[in-house]
Amino acid sequence: VPESDWARAVELIRSADEIALACHVSPDGDALGSMLAAGLAMRALGKRVVASFGDRRFEVPRLLRFLPGQELLVEPARYPEAPALMITFDASTSARLGLLGDSAAKAAELIVVDHHPSNSGFGTMALIDPGAAATAMLVEELIDRLGVPLDRDIATGLYAGLVTDTGSFRHSSTSPAAHAMAARLVATGLRTDEIARELWDRSPFGYLKVLGAALERVHLEPEAAGGLGLVWTYVPRVDRAAYGLPYDEVEGMIDIVRRTDEAEVAIVLKEDDEGAWQVSTRSKGAVDVARVCAALGGGGHVRAAGFTSHRPVAETMADIRALLTPA
Ligand code: 5GP
Ligand code: MN
Ligand code: MN
Repeated sequence: VPESDWARAVELIRSADEIALACHVSPDGDALGSMLAAGLAMRALGKRVVASFGDRRFEVPRLLRFLPGQELLVEPARYPEAPALMITFDASTSARLGLLGDSAAKAAELIVVDHHPSNSGFGTMALIDPGAAATAMLVEELIDRLGVPLDRDIATGLYAGLVTDTGSFRHSSTSPAAHAMAARLVATGLRTDEIARELWDRSPFGYLKVLGAALERVHLEPEAAGGLGLVWTYVPRVDRAAYGLPYDEVEGMIDIVRRTDEAEVAIVLKEDDEGAWQVSTRSKGAVDVARVCAALGGGGHVRAAGFTSHRPVAETMADIRALLTPA
């Protein structure tokens, strides 16, 4: 990010009275954690802050309810229609803002804070670093430049973003800078054990049953992806309904499926409450799943990407298989 862009962003924020924050739909730890950390910092500067995400069913995922700053959240219906200053977090396109896309289009100034290589270049200014392991890394720098000290609440949001997007420092994005940031955040007094438990180590009982059903129908296709292998399964909403399990509880299932040694590519298709299929794709690095997902209307990173499908599972899988064939 060029120095002049940081300076301009800081100036826009300092001179604003009210700031509208948004992150991508179905927020993950990086999206919501980055947004709430930034919101708390801006509130500390005396700004009026509203924050939201544009899901039709506006609900904070259960595993992110521990994040401080939830009082900044407003429903999309109460979000400013044409904000003077709007800032987006972890959203690679305006389509990822869902219902808040209209507000973004009408915002007088729109600062886009993101780390997706596929970022479409929307907004009136960009704080984008595709080399950053998480949007939270950019937000840490922004908060420093705003001169707001990191307290434990702000640090909790940033840490949630960092550990989510680095997969607890397991992914290839785990840089020395990511560990240095963690050290600084933990020094504010974070309970890393409690955060880890909230994010990964708890679920309702029904999750085990739904997981069991998904693993019963998992497929291994060694010939797919040019012989590198594909493993995939799906989670229809009727499975979740049997246990009253909310959609966001199955978002992490890909992390179980992707461990398969025999497959370079892993896919989990999850039917949401509206009947659309949210498709999670992962690779181990030899296949660019962002390219595959971009061709199907989504996007993401080389090793972690996704898209939404409104077609039956078998048809979506046929589309994916065709794209996985080496050129
Ligand atoms: P997940 O499988 O965890 O939902 O998504 C993995 C990554 O894929 C996310 O970090 C995000 O960058 C990207 N992604 C997921 N769904 C979509 C989508 O519908 N559109 C775009 N552009 N990217 C997505
Ligand atoms: Mn994200
Ligand atoms: Mn991210």
